[in-house]
Amino acid sequence: MKIAVIGTGYVGLVSGACFSEFGFDVVCVDQDAGKIEQLKAGKIPIYEPELDTLVKNNVDRGRLSFTTNLPEAMVGAAAVFIAVGTPSRRGDGHADLTYVYAAAETIAKEIKDYTVIVTKSTVPVGTGRKVAEIIRKTNPAAKFDMASNPEFLREGSAINDFMRPDRVVIGCETDAARAVMRQLYRPLFLIETPILFTSLETAELIKYAANSFLALKISFINQISDLCDLLGANVTDVSRGIGLDGRIGSKFLHPGPGYGGSCFPKDTLALMKTARDVHSPLSLVEATVSYNDARKLQMVDRIAAALGGSVVGKTISILGLTFKPNTDDMRDSPSLVIIPELIARGAKIRAHDPVGIEEARKHMPDIDYRQDAYDTMSGADAVVILTEWNSYRALDLGRVKTLMKAPVLVDLRNIYRPDEMAAFGFNYSSLGRPRAL
Ligand code: NAD
Repeated sequence: MKIAVIGTGYVGLVSGACFSEFGFDVVCVDQDAGKIEQLKAGKIPIYEPELDTLVKNNVDRGRLSFTTNLPEAMVGAAAVFIAVGTPSRRGDGHADLTYVYAAAETIAKEIKDYTVIVTKSTVPVGTGRKVAEIIRKTNPAAKFDMASNPEFLREGSAINDFMRPDRVVIGCETDAARAVMRQLYRPLFLIETPILFTSLETAELIKYAANSFLALKISFINQISDLCDLLGANVTDVSRGIGLDGRIGSKFLHPGPGYGGSCFPKDTLALMKTARDVHSPLSLVEATVSYNDARKLQMVDRIAAALGGSVVGKTISILGLTFKPNTDDMRDSPSLVIIPELIARGAKIRAHDPVGIEEARKHMPDIDYRQDAYDTMSGADAVVILTEWNSYRALDLGRVKTLMKAPVLVDLRNIYRPDEMAAFGFNYSSLGRPRAL
């Protein structure tokens, strides 16, 4: 079976490569000619562990190819996946569906035989039906069915998430579409992955509900961690103590500087807008969104407090710029709020990230980026750990201390232990854990 995937970003490229690994013929399409040129030359435009090998193996086997030419890609395709971006619309926070609708129109013109059109992008409830309307209007003779197949992969572990997902959600309403989708996901069905068939609307909502719930869970533990600070309790133990309850679960109970990334911020906002539109506001999601916005700025106050109340004239080394480790994605990273605010308050910033500097530079061109973590920390008044990259977990603390002007370390990911940092003589602060005496 052949499929086409429209949009070759974090989701489209991974999905296309994984479907080709399942054995299907996959053509990945992007309107960004530069990206397609890179892919054709064997270069992966994003950082995602092991994606290069997966792409290379499947290109070599002749199952995976890249093009800007949609008509060519669609010839003989049983399914076309729309995996284009759905960012927040400027001004009102609704999902911007411009790219989805543009893709739908182009696809419509090229439908020759029966094709299943699948939205893999995260799209608000009702989008699948609107896409069907666009296709019918553009090409009344087109034989097609819609399916909604939201993607749950996480950047940084995207291939494993795609190959071994907790579940697959497929919204579709005809036997013909179900048959195509079932065949595509047969390799996962064989490893007993739960596959949920639902209506289009339900599948669309599942994705937003899942992301909003996870965002809420993160915000909950962040608030509990603030409370721990005030009450002298330890958030690590609280997380473990509540997470061992099977009804709660231990994941997403790590305090941090606020969630970011390409999904949670825009998806919580979009769900909030959808709910308001039908006069049924989701107060829990609204509270999550505003708390998370405020939290990033609170982190700046924490850094200032660690420096005695003011950051004016202080050299602060930032370790980690991306919103999480193992990705170069900078979209809505907390660093994009925290660093400019530190600068606005008079700090001098030096920053390091193992893979995110190139992306970060596009957003914050004027920062002193250093390629080496120790170089970043040399002569600093404070070090702030913003992203929990593995390479920051095993720093040579003795060396760090001698390099810095003053041994102030603010760990916004709780990757070190207060007692070990005290033993090294650091003035160490973290989230929701008592300082060692
Ligand atoms: P992205 O910005 O990395 O990639 C989108 C790609 O689509 C870009 O390369 C762009 O050039 C291309 N594109 C846009 N319009 C096009 C068109 N008409 N024809 C061909 N190509 C076109 O986006 P992403 O992070 O891969 O996200 C895609 C969707 O998947 C979003 O809806 C997102 O919410 C969802 N999603 C993302 C993740 C994630 O971790 N990034 C996880 C799950 C779901």
